[in-house]
Order: sequence, then C-alpha cells, then structure tokens
Amino acid sequence: MECIFCEIAAKKLPARIIYEDEHAVAFEDINPKAPVHALVIPKKHISTNLDIGQNDNMLIGHLFQIANQIAKDNGIADRGFRLVMNCNADSGQTVFHIHLHILGGRFMSWPPG
Ligand code: 5GP
Ligand code: ZN
Repeated sequence: MECIFCEIAAKKLPARIIYEDEHAVAFEDINPKAPVHALVIPKKHISTNLDIGQNDNMLIGHLFQIANQIAKDNGIADRGFRLVMNCNADSGQTVFHIHLHILGGRFMSWPPG
C-alpha cells in the first residue's frame, strides 16, 4: 500500500481517530490549521473528487453527515466552520485519497489564499 490514508483506514499507520464506521474514518489532521481540524475519508480509495462515480453518491453524502456531526460534537457548528476538499495541484492537494477537511474554532477569511 502506498496511500497514507488507506494505511490509516487499515490501521497500518497511527492516527487520532475520532469516528469510524464500515465506510468512513475521521481523524485529527497531523498539522492543524485551526483549533478544530479533522479529516473525513472514505475507506474506499478515491484519488480526487474528479474520480467520484455515480455509485459513490451515498458515500459522499455520508462523509458530509459525519463532518456535520463532528462539527456539532466540537461545538463549532453554530459559530460556523469550513468544509474543504482540495483537488489537484493548484488547490494544494497533497494526499491523493479524498478527504473532507473540517476546520473551525476561529474566524476564517474569505477568499482562501
Ligand atoms: P490536502 O493538502 O491534500 O488537502 O490535505 C492533506 C492533509 O493531510 C493536510 O492537512 C496534512 O496536514 C494532513 N496529513 C498528511 N499526512 C498525514 C498523516 O500522516 N496523518 C494525519 N493525521 N494527517 C496527515
Ligand atoms: Zn487511499
């Protein structure tokens, strides 16, 4: 295996896992950019959001449901938070296994850099 997020999902690499079910895992980002910074990933390897197929529609909705629950559990839902999925080089994507960033706990400017 050469995908670090597949390895985290398979417990071959350690991570601070905050949620897990049959289809998805969420864990704390190793280099947090906000007081709350977690990542939600599907256990299935999908390289970028461009590779999401029609059969993945339920799975992608599921990732958002998990992200919302994590935001609520961390007390950032009412103040606001940001969900980000970077795609390819110009966005800054560095790990090519899709992941939804959950960022919150501070004010975030717009537009992003
Ligand atoms: P991207 O730039 O691809 O949108 O985001 C990748 C994110 O994964 C970054 O925020 C980075 O800090 C995080 N990350 C990279 N490697 C690891 C790791 O091994 N463990 C954890 N928990 N996060 C990682
Ligand atoms: Zn992967």
